[in-house]
Amino acid sequence: IHRKMHTTRPDFAMSQPIETITSTSNTLVKTLKSLERKKGRQETGLFLAEGARLVEQGLERGWQAETLMIAATMADRPHLAALAARAEASGARVALAAENLMSRITHKDNAQSVIAAFRQKSTPLEALAAPGSGIWIALYEVRDPGNLGTILRTADCAGARGVILLETCCDPYSFEAVRASMGSIFDMPFAQASFAAFQAWRTENTLSLTAASVNGTVRHDKAAYGARSAIIMGNEQAGLPAEIEAQCDTLALIPMRGGADSLNLAQATAIMTYEAWRQGDFR
Ligand code: SAM
Repeated sequence: IHRKMHTTRPDFAMSQPIETITSTSNTLVKTLKSLERKKGRQETGLFLAEGARLVEQGLERGWQAETLMIAATMADRPHLAALAARAEASGARVALAAENLMSRITHKDNAQSVIAAFRQKSTPLEALAAPGSGIWIALYEVRDPGNLGTILRTADCAGARGVILLETCCDPYSFEAVRASMGSIFDMPFAQASFAAFQAWRTENTLSLTAASVNGTVRHDKAAYGARSAIIMGNEQAGLPAEIEAQCDTLALIPMRGGADSLNLAQATAIMTYEAWRQGDFR
């Protein structure tokens, strides 16, 4: 395999032989497995990205991959050999995983042929400030990682300037959130903050604050978001606390008919964000 990596794409040649890991008790395997739990991610400061496309995107955007593991049976595929060489050149430890070790790490029968452990980044709220028009999305105590990942993806698609995770949210670096973000975790800046810190920051940065709420008094497409607009979304179960709604400029309701009492959080975020962008003529 090592020889093949040299001969298939000489421009991506590996600098040294690649180790093949065969045992689940290997330390590297244990570390990768630990990343499925928040405790493991906190202790190591790492998170997992799965699949060649996602890993490639992370490397391309300059995120530091600490480890790249490739299923040994797939290692002579030119694009994976190229990915391995690229990761190694950026300082990652590259290893091959024997037989079904990948499935053991990811707990999936049809595991992808590549996984990587990337170093987490912590972005301060101040770094999300930017001049000019724009949309910022604040999430109050989002708890579902699938929703969070989907919202990062939507924010990215709509060109939002940043996502702010308020108070106690689920971990954006969980496997589910990273997967649902479809790579936007690497592109969409996000920061964590208390609501008080966010309020001070958005006031200083002259952002209007529109809450999406089932108690809304204005239809979401009639609300005036303004050129610099923060949209705040509530928790999946409890929505937004009344004291937070009281501090928003507008409470916007997305009209509903039928029996359901609310839309899914990620879908409501998409509707709000695209409306704010539409009002800016999609510029
Ligand atoms: N029972 C919760 C409540 O009373 O708010 C429902 C929470 S809902 C699943 C999660 C969030 O999505 C809400 O806090 C709100 O921000 C947004 N949302 C969902 N449906 C909405 C609607 N029809 N209009 C405005 N916002 C909505």
